[in-house]
Amino acid sequence: MSSFIISLDFELYWGMRDIVSLNEYKDNLLGVHIAIPKILKLFKEYEIHATWGVVGFLKYNNFDEIEIPSILPSYLNDNLSPYDYIKKMKGTTDNEILKMHFAPNLIDKISSTPYQEIATHTYSHYYIDEPEINPSAFKADIEKAIELFARDGYKIKSLILPRNHTHKKSLQILKHTEIKRYRGNPTHWTYRDGESNKGIFLRVYRLIDTYINLSGYHHSSVTKNNQLIELKSSIFLRPYSNRLKYLEPLKIKRIKDAMSSAVKENKNFHLWWHPHNFGVNLNQNLKNLEKILTHYSYLQKHYGMKSLNMQEL
Ligand SMILES: [Zn+2]
Repeated sequence: MSSFIISLDFELYWGMRDIVSLNEYKDNLLGVHIAIPKILKLFKEYEIHATWGVVGFLKYNNFDEIEIPSILPSYLNDNLSPYDYIKKMKGTTDNEILKMHFAPNLIDKISSTPYQEIATHTYSHYYIDEPEINPSAFKADIEKAIELFARDGYKIKSLILPRNHTHKKSLQILKHTEIKRYRGNPTHWTYRDGESNKGIFLRVYRLIDTYINLSGYHHSSVTKNNQLIELKSSIFLRPYSNRLKYLEPLKIKRIKDAMSSAVKENKNFHLWWHPHNFGVNLNQNLKNLEKILTHYSYLQKHYGMKSLNMQEL
């Protein structure tokens, strides 16, 4: 049987804080609050089962509520840790700023939509591959996420690692939790290290690969190592590009071809993106998504492809 897996990294500004200023990314972040209900509507219509990896902080209403884990990360690059930023932002009451960091009602909306799995994208958007980290800080981070969500009855079973880092040794701490599955990377050399490798050649290759099949279809395999299940991703659904809008049909064709190929070979196909990628150009992004979901419906009807979230798989 061939499965169609969708996972989303729901992180708001916590996943972008070290990359872009709040003001520069404002439209994308505020747009998430409009985009998610529309994505959910499409998922309902096409009976899509999806996994939402949520950054733990999103569960709070403001900076003052954020609880500090017992051990904090100690990255070589100080800026990667959000805890000084949280201290600085305490007392913020501006509604727009809060909406760019927190979304407890969206989490409820996702979980009350059929077949949607709430997973974790770590508590603090934790960077597992960064040098000089204290492995017990990762453990404290994950445990905090599990505990926070458990208060509202959520049982977290899957993990999506920030920047697609996959430090196999650190992941072993998951064995002591109920999280038994995580999203891994395609095995192709361009993607296997997630965002740890940011070389210019790699970035250009990945950009071209978005439109033209250079690296293959990346069928998602399920591998078991040490009681943990790795579900590899296949393709990142890049946001609609105004600059390269004439290439958009190629991008969607590339994804549809990969789905068809997965079905023919009885393999899985795993698509992922961030809700903030839909924060601007929402209609164009939704149209793209609908084209993909329509193709899924066709493959489901004619070849028995099945939509499953990470937990179900
Ligand atoms: Zn992230």
